[in-house]
Amino acid sequence: MTAQPPTSSETPRAELAVVIPLHNESLVIDTLMRRLENVLQTLDTSSEVILVDDGSTDNSWLQITHYQPQAFRLQCFALSRNFGKEAALTAGLQQADANAVIILDADCQDPPELIPKMLEAWKKGADVVNMKRRVRLGETWFKRRTAGLFYRLIGYLSDIPIPRNVGDFRLLSRRVVEEINRLQERNRYMKGLLSWPGFHQITIEYDREPRTAGDSKWNYWQLFLLAISGITAFSNKPLRLASLLGLAIACSSLVYGLWVVIKTLVFGETVPGYPSLMVVMLFIGGIELITIGILGEYIGRIFTEVKARPNYIIRQAQQSAPQTVAQHQAEPQKT
Ligand code: UDP
Ligand code: MG
Repeated sequence: MTAQPPTSSETPRAELAVVIPLHNESLVIDTLMRRLENVLQTLDTSSEVILVDDGSTDNSWLQITHYQPQAFRLQCFALSRNFGKEAALTAGLQQADANAVIILDADCQDPPELIPKMLEAWKKGADVVNMKRRVRLGETWFKRRTAGLFYRLIGYLSDIPIPRNVGDFRLLSRRVVEEINRLQERNRYMKGLLSWPGFHQITIEYDREPRTAGDSKWNYWQLFLLAISGITAFSNKPLRLASLLGLAIACSSLVYGLWVVIKTLVFGETVPGYPSLMVVMLFIGGIELITIGILGEYIGRIFTEVKARPNYIIRQAQQSAPQTVAQHQAEPQKT
């Protein structure tokens, strides 16, 4: 085991890299590693696993750096704090130099046993293998429903096709990873960015398993913010909608104004209606606030982009080569 950050000159490029972001996943790491070993040892291609510890405060980093891989090379990166899954994934993709890269969740909700099937599709010429969730086991009715609604909404709003019910669990070919790594943006909605380069896509359906152990790292508020971030990163339609709404209200007020003038000329001055005045005022006030809010969402994102802070900082890196039989024999025997 070396404690040095890997350099490309020292290590030959692996055929397959599995990128896994993790945050406080000590309960699932043993299962994850066992399942990865079982799958990767059956492959006839060289493989590496890239684990990005996204500022865990539990034992995750110790566990992964002490792990002795058998069937793959292991690269562990620790971010300097919790930057969020999108940043951790960005870090992992930038470290992966393999010809095919698969993104997995640490909690085994994306079964590693599907890796050979994904590789098969890649060998047949696919650049992107999208893993579509047929069912989402272990998730509440409300989460499944809101996720379904969100995928429909972003599908309608987005300027590029973002496949429905496809998460980050995908295989990407080298050239797709390179294109994604070239994207400089700070607001990284990965499900959109992974789809953005296009290329030849294939979709495989699977049943998403429940979490092996531990709890989801996302609450509904964070999911709502992720949804807003996805929509603003991939669509200008909300801005257009705000303008159209403004135009529609302006036109209707003009018609209403004309009607008031005509009514006054024909029937004389009437007692002004306080309730209708209030309704119109509140309605227009509400629309104005919503519109300013939409503008604010985009301006806030422009602010983030302009500051151009890095998406993540790597605090530490460690690499472990697979423990082959030859290596065991080469080690000096203790007497
Ligand atoms: N994750 C991360 N950083 C975070 C939150 C989550 O790297 O700030 C990782 C987490 O460890 C897991 C993956 O992202 O490997 C998906 O998270 P989770 O299972 O909590 O999300 P869910 O499946 O509930 O959407
Ligand atoms: Mg999960």
